[in-house]
Amino acid sequence: MDQNLIFNVAQLLKEPVGATRSATVTADVYRLVPELAESGIPEASERPELSGRVRLMLTGDGILVQGDLSTDLTLPCSRCLEPVVVPLDVALEEVFTPTIDIITGQAIKPEEDDRALWIDEHHILDLGEVLRQDVLVAVPMHPVCREDCRGLCSTCGQNLNEESCNCAPEPDPRWATLAALLNQNE
Ligand SMILES: [Zn+2]
Ligand SMILES: [Zn+2]
Repeated sequence: MDQNLIFNVAQLLKEPVGATRSATVTADVYRLVPELAESGIPEASERPELSGRVRLMLTGDGILVQGDLSTDLTLPCSRCLEPVVVPLDVALEEVFTPTIDIITGQAIKPEEDDRALWIDEHHILDLGEVLRQDVLVAVPMHPVCREDCRGLCSTCGQNLNEESCNCAPEPDPRWATLAALLNQNE
């Protein structure tokens, strides 16, 4: 899959404030966030491709990038480990700042500390790191296949959505104190 997260903005930087470009962006989520390829279920689906339209606009401070990207991710249910498809939506809105003056060629010290938001000395704007951070935030921590998923038995591993098992239910720790009191009275 082709990724196009890198833009040469030299021409845009020479235009009047308010000038825009728009582009369709695609990103391979597993390449962007390799941790997800490990926790995901790669064989259950094709590699997820994050895609959508973005708009680049020249402002007084730099280049404002806005866009909505989305895909579907297949993740293991946090209770029963069966694959669950979750929509992943990333709303991009960041200002990238130049590190070199496009007209004079002089270096500029950006006010922005986050290097992910710097346009480099070759006027390259790279969405990769920003998208990586946004994807990490957008991925659900505990996806469930359904709200009432019963999960796996902690003793025998049986998927309790399919069949119940004969293991004794775990005593609820909240009742332990009460049970101790009752035993004293007997
Ligand atoms: Zn489940
Ligand atoms: Zn069991």
